Amino acid sequence: MDSGIIRCIDESNEDKSMKKSGKVYLVGAGPGDPGLITVRGKSLLEKADAVVYDYLANPKLLQLAPADAELYYVGKKGGAKHSHTQEEINGILVKLVKEGKRVVRLKGGDPFIFGRGGEEIEVMADQGMAFEVVPGVTSATAAATYAGIPITHRGYTATVAFLTGHEDPTKAASNIDWAKLSTGAGTLVVYMGIKNLPNIVEKLLKYGRSPRTPVAVVRWASTPRQRSVVGTLDTITQIVADAGIKAPALIVVGEVVSLRDKLDWYEKRPLFGRRILVTRTRQQASTLVAGLEEQGAECFECSTINIQPLENYDEIDGELERLKEYHWILFTSINGVKYFFDRLHKKGMDARDLKGPDIACVGRATADLLFTYGINADLIPSTFTGEGLAESLLDLGVEGRNILIPRAKVGYELLPETLRGAGAQVSVVPVYQTFPESACMDMVREKLRAGELDILTFTSSSTVRNFISMFGEEGREELFKLLKGVKLAAIGPVTGKTLRDNGLPVDVEAKEHTIDGLIEAIVDSCTSPD
Ligand code: SAH
Repeated sequence: MDSGIIRCIDESNEDKSMKKSGKVYLVGAGPGDPGLITVRGKSLLEKADAVVYDYLANPKLLQLAPADAELYYVGKKGGAKHSHTQEEINGILVKLVKEGKRVVRLKGGDPFIFGRGGEEIEVMADQGMAFEVVPGVTSATAAATYAGIPITHRGYTATVAFLTGHEDPTKAASNIDWAKLSTGAGTLVVYMGIKNLPNIVEKLLKYGRSPRTPVAVVRWASTPRQRSVVGTLDTITQIVADAGIKAPALIVVGEVVSLRDKLDWYEKRPLFGRRILVTRTRQQASTLVAGLEEQGAECFECSTINIQPLENYDEIDGELERLKEYHWILFTSINGVKYFFDRLHKKGMDARDLKGPDIACVGRATADLLFTYGINADLIPSTFTGEGLAESLLDLGVEGRNILIPRAKVGYELLPETLRGAGAQVSVVPVYQTFPESACMDMVREKLRAGELDILTFTSSSTVRNFISMFGEEGREELFKLLKGVKLAAIGPVTGKTLRDNGLPVDVEAKEHTIDGLIEAIVDSCTSPD
């Protein structure tokens, strides 16, 4: 036993001493979609002491790093006021490694493809620093794939070349041999070429590529902002100018582009191009966001309610002492379940103390959470609302029954009132409280003013109430005006009624009052003919 403990202590010391020697991990972040980072890259990010990242690396990936990891943005976006020189970036990396840190140098796409990753890592090698390199999905393959273009195909071409369009093809001493390249590879993918597109096209035509060669230009590939246009060498310059396509974009030249008509899949997803604001409580897991993104939407999250514990638990503590006297406990939200059990456990009690009363949940999500605490709900109404729950209970008969409802301090009164009206003794006891959040108001107002939101989702009456109150009396008139061009989506009839009661329309209402039901209703509303 003793030796086991000593070994354990030894190992932890060893760990610390190992940490002293730092290392740089040059990691490809992939092209934009955070799901396209490698498993190795993800695991290194999860253990990083410091992350040094670029403009093209999706900031969502930073959330993988430990909360206390140091983050350095060294973006080099063209025209940005402050951009770090390569020397400064090298200096940051060297300093961090010397401090003994595990440094993830996160670069867009693949770090060794037009990313100056080679130069950065050469400096590490010159200085005798330890390093590793993790390849990434480069934007060329991602842009083509997400635009429905296989860059090679047996029926079309067996060769592909990646080139930079950054250098001015008109300059005398070009590093690119256009005469050989133009017809030397079946597919050409040009990075950083948008500004020079007219010159690139001119070179390709001059050196023998047919003016009818199909060309695709893809901007912000593999992100919800992806935009792509297609033409031929003859027409693409004008098409790109008309569409206002700017960097970052890739140019794909070759017969394979014609396959896009048949193989386009990413931009055909039902919610592609839709910008959706998801109002939610800070603590709620974002399953709605994940589901909408899966369908192609670009989501912005806005916490309208901040859920907090209570200052005083005397009331619920008193009820926990007399749980046996209850016939029913009703949970009307997942937070009700979570905070009720937190308190139960704090009192040294557990699921066994809930043997007596039957337990009902307002909906499936609430019942699913209850199940994780070891209890199967005795009743879930077929309509997942307070009314639905009241109806189901009335059917069973509630006269003379003692009913406990642990829930938010301020809540919907219809359920307890209906039950009381039918002769039940109802105790409504707070287990948590809610406050409106105003942090996201500015973001929402800005996006609405710029016409950059298509749909707003509401998953409870309190998200509606808190969303509106966030804007205050003074901001309400403008908010309502701005909401005219936007679809409002409610998870069910109660949330919908709260929207209407507040003078707002309900454009989408889920038939099944769940997150999946809401996603389905939004997809239907965006794909139905009118
Ligand atoms: N190392 C990166 C390339 C860096 S060079 C990689 O492997 O992808 C920067 C150029 O990459 C941009 O100018 C653009 O041409 C291209 N690029 C990077 N990400 C892109 C994206 N999501 N969509 C379109 N082009 C992208």
